[in-house]
Amino acid sequence: MTIEDFLQSAPLYKKCELDEPPLVDDFAQARPQLPCSTCGGNERTFQFARALTRRVGLEGIDTREVVEADEAYTFQYECVGCESFRVTFLITGATNKRVLKSGRSPPPEIQIPKELKTALGSEAPYFTKGRISEEQGFGIGAYAYYRRIVENNIGSLLEQIAKVLPPGEKAYLDALEQVRQSHVADEKIKIVKDLLPATLRPAGQNPLALIHDVLSEGIHSKSDDECLDLAESLRLALTTLVHEVARHSQVQKDFTRALDSLQKSKRTK
Ligand SMILES: [Zn+2]
Repeated sequence: MTIEDFLQSAPLYKKCELDEPPLVDDFAQARPQLPCSTCGGNERTFQFARALTRRVGLEGIDTREVVEADEAYTFQYECVGCESFRVTFLITGATNKRVLKSGRSPPPEIQIPKELKTALGSEAPYFTKGRISEEQGFGIGAYAYYRRIVENNIGSLLEQIAKVLPPGEKAYLDALEQVRQSHVADEKIKIVKDLLPATLRPAGQNPLALIHDVLSEGIHSKSDDECLDLAESLRLALTTLVHEVARHSQVQKDFTRALDSLQKSKRTK
């Protein structure tokens, strides 16, 4: 992953392999996109403000020095927009030129996308808890929260998909009858996953198939780190699916409204 990806999305304590060996100088060049509490907005550009290390002390950092195993570095970034809001990361070098985030201040604010909040209803707080578990590196916990959300909501999600199907997608509707008879989330998804229309597969990826793969994998012998990856996939597939359904539903509403007003204006002529 790139340093920007690492700063933006790596959970705490997860050892990450960067594309390039992690030079301190590269951290100084990085311009991550982070939320800014002053400007508002989730993706503000941040630039390097300063660095501290245990060994070198305040400010006097050798910018070409490799981030070494067991050495902790503090990198501070400030929002380019307001030049006041700052985010500080504590980065520790791990073996094999990997790095891990051992601290972040202030902690990231967890925001649930609006359409997801609506779709999940009373279960939305579990999504927040899943995100917090992820940020803290609790992979097994995060996985359990997301799995529970998927299992309890998949029925209504599959029904929502039916409402935004393009004309002629009869196979999905037929399969939905079978879905309604099943009480196991895994089976429900299996029945319809390959029938998901292309319009609901962003970049050709099938979020339903991904959810099915992750759910069938099982986590009984997996480490926290491995579960973190599965939890992230589950979260991304779920949010993508909900987002795509909401987007199509909105497009349909707009189109119907446009047709209605066209009809009305014809009638008044
Ligand atoms: Zn700002």
